[in-house]
Amino acid sequence: MFETLSDRLTSVFSSLRGKGRLSEEDINATAREIRLALLEADVALPVVREFIARIKERARGEEVSKALNPAQQVIKIVNDELVEVLGGETRQIRYAKTPPTVIMLAGLQGAGKTTLAGKLAKWLSDQRNTPLLVAADLQRPNAVTQLQVVGERAGASVFAPEPGNGVGDPVEVASLSLEYARRNNHNVVIIDTAGRLGVDTEMMRQAADIRDAVRPDEILFVVDAMIGQDAVNTAQAFLEGVGYDAVALTKLDGDARGGAALSIRHITGRPIMFASTGEKLEDFDLFHPDRMASRILD
Ligand code: GDP
Repeated sequence: MFETLSDRLTSVFSSLRGKGRLSEEDINATAREIRLALLEADVALPVVREFIARIKERARGEEVSKALNPAQQVIKIVNDELVEVLGGETRQIRYAKTPPTVIMLAGLQGAGKTTLAGKLAKWLSDQRNTPLLVAADLQRPNAVTQLQVVGERAGASVFAPEPGNGVGDPVEVASLSLEYARRNNHNVVIIDTAGRLGVDTEMMRQAADIRDAVRPDEILFVVDAMIGQDAVNTAQAFLEGVGYDAVALTKLDGDARGGAALSIRHITGRPIMFASTGEKLEDFDLFHPDRMASRILD
């Protein structure tokens, strides 16, 4: 992941090695190269602009540190700004005061929601939670079965529509699942909702109806990082149509560029909370902006 940007930045930095003080010309040339690297990585233009402006400002104003040569100082500035644009702090789950904590997943079909639901359930179980997966995606014929398979692999219970559980109505399934969770001591409920191939109003309305019925503690927007700028556009559409608290980025393992990861926080104002990096249940963790920045600059 992020190979393109990583390679480009490495060559920018190596051109600074051996330089004494950086002249205005050096700073401008470096900023230009970093700008190209970010654009090539498919980072959204407003994000690139602000990033470059901050790099230039800091490179000009930076106290000359005796411990760092100019190349190292530029690396440090770029690192700090990458951490910032990726969200700064790691965003933790906000648990409800009174269980169950309700986490609702929203996103396009194929984004990796169902897979992520299983990963999240396992991750939560590993931390001594007792999650319940809820199949509120009744759009896709296979979705319920797929969640049951994922639940089994993750060792988590699944609440699925059946007589008495709100057959055919995702809002009812979601609502009934909360009562079920309380009765059966599940302290976290993960609701998998329906996605379509493209953003459409019917899907948005259904997600909004589920949201209004269950009042989630966290709404996670799940998005495929490999779709680059489209991820940012979809993120904006969901923000307006449903709203969400944080983002879960999937398929980072296949994302050689990194544009979505580097743009989404700035454009939506919502932090990236989780990163999914493969098809296995274990390929999943909280998103750590500092570790991700180090990876890019490695
Ligand atoms: P949904 O329609 O949003 O529920 O998406 P799915 O969970 O069914 O995932 C769609 C496809 O993406 C499946 O083939 C998953 O195995 C795959 N997938 C999900 N997450 C990841 C990931 O992090 N990395 C990779 N490489 N594939 C993933």
